[in-house]
Amino acid sequence: MPRPIRATIDCGALRHNHDIARQHAGAASIWTVVKANGYGHGLLRVAAALADRTDGYALIELDSAIALRAAGISQPILMMEGFYAAAELPLFVEHGLTAVLHCSAQVDMLLGAALPDRLPLCLKLNTGMNRLGFGPDEFALALERVATSGIASSIMLMSHFADADEQRGVAEQLSCFRAMRGDHAYPVTLANSGALLRYSETTGGRGDWVRPGIMFYGSSPFPWLKSAADLGLLPVMTLASELIGVQRLAAGDRVGYGGSFVADQSMRIGMVACGYGDGYPRHAPTGTPILVGGQRTRTLGRVSMDKIAVDLTGIDAAGIGTPVTLWGEGLPADDVAAAAGTVSYELFCALNARVPIIEI
Ligand SMILES: *Cc1c(COP(=O)(O)O)cnc(C)c1O
Repeated sequence: MPRPIRATIDCGALRHNHDIARQHAGAASIWTVVKANGYGHGLLRVAAALADRTDGYALIELDSAIALRAAGISQPILMMEGFYAAAELPLFVEHGLTAVLHCSAQVDMLLGAALPDRLPLCLKLNTGMNRLGFGPDEFALALERVATSGIASSIMLMSHFADADEQRGVAEQLSCFRAMRGDHAYPVTLANSGALLRYSETTGGRGDWVRPGIMFYGSSPFPWLKSAADLGLLPVMTLASELIGVQRLAAGDRVGYGGSFVADQSMRIGMVACGYGDGYPRHAPTGTPILVGGQRTRTLGRVSMDKIAVDLTGIDAAGIGTPVTLWGEGLPADDVAAAAGTVSYELFCALNARVPIIEI
């Protein structure tokens, strides 16, 4: 018997969630964001599951983009941070990758390279997030340099929202983008999942592209406002394991490293074969939700590398071998993330390579 932990990836749910994105995108095309190994779900698995319905893929890792081409993916691929050195540019040409340009140093590299062919390009505008992108005073020159060089086989304009999933929303950044774009008729790509699901004015029309990620993987971009279920999204990754031990505590007994949980009465607890060495967040406190035998209960004490304790109060039938769900089917990853003070993106990305994956 192997250690009982495994992650199940539901490709049907992935396709369902893509169909939901399609409904919101209207006439716009869809870049499926698959950075960070498809948010931990497996790059090639996600790409293959959606290859019959998505319009393109977006990521930042060059080796992953080349792996997509090697796997037969023929749709456009948007490299959301472009290239980091001129030496990468021949690979962009060879594999037909769309390069984001976000700073004049990249334009210098591009115009200084003697490339055998033109490239699809995407200029990123900084409209207020202040991460990457040309500001209002730099954009016109960058666009002119690129447009007059003849190096672009096509040009798209891109920006990214800081608050599509927050109280502040997108209005300020959207009006900044419109002012910078002016009369240019280039297609645009703006909407992440939060904007796509919340602000239809960000999706654009035919020829434009949306750029969602997290919604494909079945989580809500704004769980404080609407749950994944409210949005019609299905969980894709279910992290499951089993109880491998049971303890009976008396009042005053402590649990785990540091004894951060102390029983205030006699109780039964279970040990789950899952810890931070599998990707479960170590900072998840006592009280983080978890399913044991299908019943919602709570974690107790500190998460260890290989184990977590759970409260078995009221789950009398639970014993060694009882199934446990850490997140996924029956327990939204958003609920676990909220208890652990993080977002489901981080939970998914952290899934460790030692966890076997079952694809359904
Ligand atoms: C990650 C990312 C996205 C997707 O964001 P979600 O919140 O997962 O929908 C879109 N655009 C850029 C630039 C990103 O880095």
